[in-house]
Amino acid sequence: MKLQKLFEETVFPIGAENTAFAQYFDGKSYLDMLSLEQVVIGNVTFEPKCRNHWHIHHAEKGGGQILLVTAGEGWYQEWGKAPRALKKGDIVNIPPNVKHWHGAKKDSAFQHLAIEVPAEGGSTEWCEAVSDDEYNLLP
Ligand code: MN
Repeated sequence: MKLQKLFEETVFPIGAENTAFAQYFDGKSYLDMLSLEQVVIGNVTFEPKCRNHWHIHHAEKGGGQILLVTAGEGWYQEWGKAPRALKKGDIVNIPPNVKHWHGAKKDSAFQHLAIEVPAEGGSTEWCEAVSDDEYNLLP
């Protein structure tokens, strides 16, 4: 899916360029915080090839993240596991304390809602980037 088509069809607002987390992303993304009360929900839109760095949603109790894919095609990968291809309608339950990344496919824009599961002692640790060598091996 082209970014322009995603922009035309998106259900939730795309928001502005994601400058707040740009240092943890390769490529251009957009972020709109849909909810900052009760449960924090962000709408994250990735240009083709854009992905975030390996990261961990730490928590002592509860925590983790749920991704609801709303447009396009992308990837989710946990450390040491095979990447999982994602398309509109897919749901990813990311456990707390598991290193992972998410992002777009090479040839498709991608959008997911990211739901922060409420946590005690929650924090996000950002790690190394997904290298071009690693990313380019993906179909
Ligand atoms: Mn995550």
